[in-house]
Amino acid sequence: MATYTPERATQLKEAYSVIANQVKQADPSGKVTLVAVSKLKPASDIQALYDAGVRHFGENYPNELVDKAQQLPQDIKWHFIGALQSGNVNTLVKKIPNLYAIETVDSLKKAKKASASRQGQDKINVFLQYNTSGEEQKAGFTSVDEVVECVKWLQSDENTSLELKGLMTIGSFEQSVSGEENKDFATLVDVKKQVDSSCGTDLDLSMGMSHDFVQAIAQGSTNVRVGSSIFGARPPKN
Ligand SMILES: *Cc1c(COP(=O)(O)O)cnc(C)c1O
Repeated sequence: MATYTPERATQLKEAYSVIANQVKQADPSGKVTLVAVSKLKPASDIQALYDAGVRHFGENYPNELVDKAQQLPQDIKWHFIGALQSGNVNTLVKKIPNLYAIETVDSLKKAKKASASRQGQDKINVFLQYNTSGEEQKAGFTSVDEVVECVKWLQSDENTSLELKGLMTIGSFEQSVSGEENKDFATLVDVKKQVDSSCGTDLDLSMGMSHDFVQAIAQGSTNVRVGSSIFGARPPKN
């Protein structure tokens, strides 16, 4: 078991409850899921929050996630929120029985691959990532038509193993610091409206991180992904 010090546990629990309270204030209805983003943080940090009752954790790197999932309790609800490459779809869906969601599905091809590889195991929720900022380095669908095509496939009998959950975006840094209406979040809301009306869905929205999750909830987010405000600054990735 991943062991932690009482000091670290207290620090993490306090930081988590500050964020959880802010989420509750922004969303009194209580329908927003707070995902604690633990990438590059030790398994002991996750265990400490788990022991305090937290279940939703987000990770970005497939090997790190597989490794942590093997060491940590089996009822953790893991969210994969990192870049989804065709080459790592199998690793994720086959080696993590308790993978709760893939938030970064950005093509029909990858959706098909994930669904096929997952056969015989528990279903995985998926969010389709949309590139709302148009930045080249960001992944995601770039047209509503492609999203609709993917949603329709997910609704078909060919999809045996994925549960369509919603849409996800990261948004540009400039938009996230303004403290005013975030145009990238507004774009995702608009994409949702179009997809919902074409496909008869009522999609969830995964948007908002440490510095902009309150604004994201104000604009309709139902799933926020918060890392550094809970766990502290991350070490550099290498
Ligand atoms: C790292 C990451 C987060 C968390 O970011 P913080 O700013 O540390 O809260 C959220 N979403 C995605 C997609 C990430 O990669």
